[in-house]
Amino acid sequence: MANDCIFCRIKSGEIKSDIVYTDEQCFIIKDIAPKAPVHLLVIPNKHFTYLTGLTVEENEMIGGMFRAAAETARKQGIDKTGYRLVINQGANSGQQVPHLHLHILAGRQMGMMA
Ligand code: 5GP
Ligand code: ZN
Repeated sequence: MANDCIFCRIKSGEIKSDIVYTDEQCFIIKDIAPKAPVHLLVIPNKHFTYLTGLTVEENEMIGGMFRAAAETARKQGIDKTGYRLVINQGANSGQQVPHLHLHILAGRQMGMMA
């Protein structure tokens, strides 16, 4: 838990958000400024910033995030039409929140990279 982290504060309930999924590894919320008709964020419960810091300790966390994304995509009915998973890392990617998260984007046709 990082006190100055928006996603840690959402996790603790201090900041309200629309939570659609929770388990022992991660939780999923609706993005506050959606870039597609469906825009969800898969957020690990543990505060973790950069993939360069990954060790085997995070295997369950990373696996859990992808399983949660797949299950939620199925429940939201976007698995048949398709969806995109995005992880931003660092300034050039446009990463705003320094707590690892997986974007799930769906509900419209997407171009090659945006
Ligand atoms: P990043 O740019 O770091 O990959 O993505 C951060 C995402 O978090 C952005 O899409 C932004 O709209 C979303 N976001 C930022 N603050 C909040 C918040 O307080 N609540 C929710 N639900 N989403 C947020
Ligand atoms: Zn955090």
